[in-house]
Order: sequence, then structure tokens, then C-alpha cells
Amino acid sequence: MIIVMKQGAGKEELKKVTQRIVELGYHPHVIHGETRNVIGAVGDERGKTVLQSLETLPGVESVVPILKPYKLASSEVSRVRTVVDVGRGVKVGGKKLVVMAGPCAVENEEQIVMTARAVKEAGATVLRGGAFKPRTSPYSFQGLEEDGLKLLDTAREETGLAIVTEVVNPKDAELVGRYADILQVGARNVQNFALLKVLGQLGKPVLLKRGMSTTIQEFLMSAEYILSEGNRQVILCERGIRTFETATRNTLDISAVPVLKEQTHLPVIVDPSHATGHASLVPSMSYAAVAAGCDGLIVEVHPDPEKAASDGPQSLRPDDFMRMMTKLKEFAKVAEREL
Ligand code: PEP
Ligand code: MN
Repeated sequence: MIIVMKQGAGKEELKKVTQRIVELGYHPHVIHGETRNVIGAVGDERGKTVLQSLETLPGVESVVPILKPYKLASSEVSRVRTVVDVGRGVKVGGKKLVVMAGPCAVENEEQIVMTARAVKEAGATVLRGGAFKPRTSPYSFQGLEEDGLKLLDTAREETGLAIVTEVVNPKDAELVGRYADILQVGARNVQNFALLKVLGQLGKPVLLKRGMSTTIQEFLMSAEYILSEGNRQVILCERGIRTFETATRNTLDISAVPVLKEQTHLPVIVDPSHATGHASLVPSMSYAAVAAGCDGLIVEVHPDPEKAASDGPQSLRPDDFMRMMTKLKEFAKVAEREL
């Protein structure tokens, strides 16, 4: 249920309503709007009609049901778009597009620092790089783990870029959270509910990737797991879905961008690298993503893609990334965004 407070309702009235919600066995999530506050009351769907009684409390304007199964992620609960502040001056969901770039995996100091410098020069503000890699084969490179996180920290110190890196296991969340500015949940873990809950409690920004076969509704239910634990800093990422097509690694569901922007207040970014699997296709899909209204991109860049430990074929060389970023500025302008 959404409890809409009257314009000008005070702190005391808000407190009384949240207390009553708790007494009724629900969790209140207060969303401070520009002109009025609303409270999302979430919990057992079966008995939610008891919340209707809140209408009689002072300061309450109305009590309306949230029709979507995802509640806190729904644009019904907040018309104001969420801007995720990841620190280091990076805000995802505002007018400025945020480009995250870097190698699939952190391999060594030279590789990550060199890439960090190159992507920064091209205009990226977040460095990506996996230290814990969720590989399809147990025999593939699994990442440098904590040593990889330390190298990311070195690259951050050198460049001032924020860091996004993946966490694959709930038991590593605290460790990854100590190094990362944004914790990435990969496509294979989008329904790892134990991981999502831990990240909800950790309270750091989360980049949640859509699974290769999750519907948009399932994707938003996964976001809801994080939000319902009290963490509002969730960035959604469309990274391609599995279809019958084999010419590309996945099929970029470009329409997911405007659909998500309608259904949720959370920021949406696009990963054209995992969506296509081929470096030559990354620029055109990046332009398309900006035209579709995304809030940013996450792109794989490697100084020597032939020698990459993972995902070389889809990684851009630094000079190609630079060219793409220059052209992307033009698309950003038409989409009334900045880069
Ligand atoms: C990645 O970002 O390197 C990755 C493994 O992506 P995804 O989870 O989208 O496959
Ligand atoms: Mn990758």
C-alpha cells in the first residue's frame, strides 16, 4: 500500500503513521517527495486491507494499493526518479550519462592501471573489472579474488575513477564491499536471493544485471529483494537475453530500456558487450541504448583483447573506445543528455 501524506503534514504525523504500520505487522519505507511524503508499506499481501485504516490518521491524505507485484521498485510508489550517488562525484540517473568501462577481468597491475587511464581519458567515470568471475566452465579463469580487488584499489588511487566489480557469493559481499564503490550482481546471480538480501543489508550501491532468461517483471522482483532490505541504491542493467539467434552472444532487448523507465524509478544502464559478444557491434548498440533513454553504459575495454583472460572478442581497444565516446556525445545531445 502507498500512504500518501498531506502536503504540509509534519514529522510527528509521519512518525505516528510509520509506528502504526509497524504495529500492523508491515514495514514502512518513507519516500521524501518535493511537495509531500509518501510511505510504502510492504509485507504480507494477504492481509494488506488492514492498512486501509491508516486513512483516518491525522496527516494522511489517502491509502492506495500498489498494483504491481514489485512495490518499492515501482514507479507507482515514487514519481521522482532515483539518482544513485556512488561517490567520487558519480551520480547514476541524473542528466549526465555515466559510462563504466574496463576489462572483463582484472589480470595484473599494468593491465588494469593502463586501462583505467585510457577509459578515463575517453570520458568514463567508473572503472569495471571482475576479481571474482562467474564462469560457465569451472576450468576457465576464475579471477584474482582479493588480489584483484587490491589492484582495482590501486587503479582507483591512480585515476580517481569509481570502481564497479562483481560479487558472486554472499560470503564475499563484505570483502567486495570494502573495495567496491558499486557491487555488481551478474546475470547468473540475478535470482540468487540470498546474495540479493545480503546486498540489501550492506547498503552500498548495487548494479543488478538482468538474467539471460528473466522477464522484466522477474528482474524487478529481484531489485525488490534489495530495496526491501532498506537499500535504495540499485542500478538496473540490461545485458541481452537468450533467444534463438546465434549471430550475437545474446539479443540486446533494447525495448527493455523504455519499458523499465516506465515501470520503475530506478536508473537503467546497458551492457552492449555481453549483449553482442563482438567488439565491432558494441558502438552501434551503445548509440542505440542512448537513443532508447538509458542512463549509462557498461563497456568492456582491454589494452590487448587477443590476450585477454576472458571476453577478448567483445572487448574494445582503448582507441576504438575513444572514437566511440566521441561519437556518443552527439547521440547524448539528441537524447537531451550530457556525457
Ligand atoms: C561481466 O560483466 O563480466 C559478466 C560476467 O556479465 P554478465 O553477468 O552480464 O554475463
Ligand atoms: Mn565479461
